[in-house]
Amino acid sequence: MKCPDCNNQMKEVEVKIEGADQKVKSYQCPSCDHVDFEPETSKKVIAELKAKESPLKIKQKIVKLSQGRVGIYFNRHVVESLNLKPGHQIAVSVPDKKHIVLSIDEK
Ligand SMILES: [Zn+2]
Repeated sequence: MKCPDCNNQMKEVEVKIEGADQKVKSYQCPSCDHVDFEPETSKKVIAELKAKESPLKIKQKIVKLSQGRVGIYFNRHVVESLNLKPGHQIAVSVPDKKHIVLSIDEK
């Protein structure tokens, strides 16, 4: 791969992007500092970053408990990512008829 500016041979360099596990492949010119990012690896890293940004969204069924009460389970992913333990307090608020907001009480 030749530099489009000065026609020197470009070096292939893997670039670490903040927050991404994968690296972007780039071509850097040693004489004029021209940098090209390889489009395929760039796309993958952008997709990886987007996936990390999106909040965890999962479907859960409401289960029947005793005395007319219902409950939901937290699956392992939620438990591990929030480090939930039995006995922890959670504040429940209902901002409208379609949302239940659970806030972990930090103590
Ligand atoms: Zn160059």
